[in-house]
Amino acid sequence: MEKLSNSIDRSWIDQWSLPFIISGPCSAESEQQILETANRLNSSYIKVFRAGIWKPRTKPNNFEGIGKKGLEWLHKVKKSTGLMVATEIANAEHVKLAIDFGIDILWIGARSTASPFTIQEIADALEGENNKIILVKNPIHPDLELWTGALERLLGKGIRKLGVIHRGFYTYKNSKYRNQPNWNLVLNFRSLFPRIPIICDPSHICGNKEGILDIAKKAYHFQYEGLMIESHCDPDHAWSDPKQQITPENLLEMLKKLTCIEKYDQKSKRYLDSFRILIDELDENIISLLAERMNISKKLGALKKSSDIAILQPNRWKNIMNKSMNFGKNLGISEELLEGIFKLLHQESIKIQNQIR
Ligand code: PEP
Ligand code: MN
Repeated sequence: MEKLSNSIDRSWIDQWSLPFIISGPCSAESEQQILETANRLNSSYIKVFRAGIWKPRTKPNNFEGIGKKGLEWLHKVKKSTGLMVATEIANAEHVKLAIDFGIDILWIGARSTASPFTIQEIADALEGENNKIILVKNPIHPDLELWTGALERLLGKGIRKLGVIHRGFYTYKNSKYRNQPNWNLVLNFRSLFPRIPIICDPSHICGNKEGILDIAKKAYHFQYEGLMIESHCDPDHAWSDPKQQITPENLLEMLKKLTCIEKYDQKSKRYLDSFRILIDELDENIISLLAERMNISKKLGALKKSSDIAILQPNRWKNIMNKSMNFGKNLGISEELLEGIFKLLHQESIKIQNQIR
């Protein structure tokens, strides 16, 4: 793995001052929309203009992308603005067309990264295209092996100009995010591929406009090399992802704020803050799990009431305590801490069930 990681070519990103910003609409809709968005974005902050041409939609009967003619519009953007252009590819045919139209950066979407057959098909189609920049989004679920496996397949075909995009992970449970970020997993990714440039996609993490700046700041604390943020000349009327797209002007405002932070922040503070972000993320998870546990206690209380079963079941309680203490001890957690937490949890559960009585 180390040898593979060392062969990654970072020249495509290292030649720019960071952060490396990719922006543009979720989907290409019309020539006018593409050209207007690109012209309004065109500034020293933006390096790459993005637009989805083929859209992988979770459900059928949605807009699935404008297809090949969108590539002509991207080509026009490249010629008229000098920006690099990027689109998502999901099969060998997409790869061929994107290369024919001179698309500079091809990205692999989260649903594709989750499918080894798709990745292999794309890697085969890219063989010999050593100058293309390929970005691999994280798979929809937090599987580090699938993600690194995709990179290995591309490296195996001689592709060296690589990067990855953290766009968050699907969670079944209620979350304030559309796709839950997992900074810790990305840190693990970086320890396996230390040379890989990492780009964060706050738009698909948040699923709304409001959270984007906060996620972009967090990405900065983890020393990400770049950001991919969706923007649209008329976000409210976008054909896909209208809630999370912002206007080019809003984006540029946001980027100004970010570069100010970067100028004045000290490295040690940045490190400290990144640990705090990891702790906050875990605390949020603990609280969500506690809420879930209390919900089940309520249901249990109702069942015990209707079946006329006593609330306090000493054997069951002893069992929970023993199992939890053993499990925690194996993970290196102090007995005192576990005992304290579980006593409190038990008391709360009894209280909830009593209220139902
Ligand atoms: C996109 O970038 O428009 C997209 C579809 O992203 P993801 O693969 O992260 O869902
Ligand atoms: Mn999108």
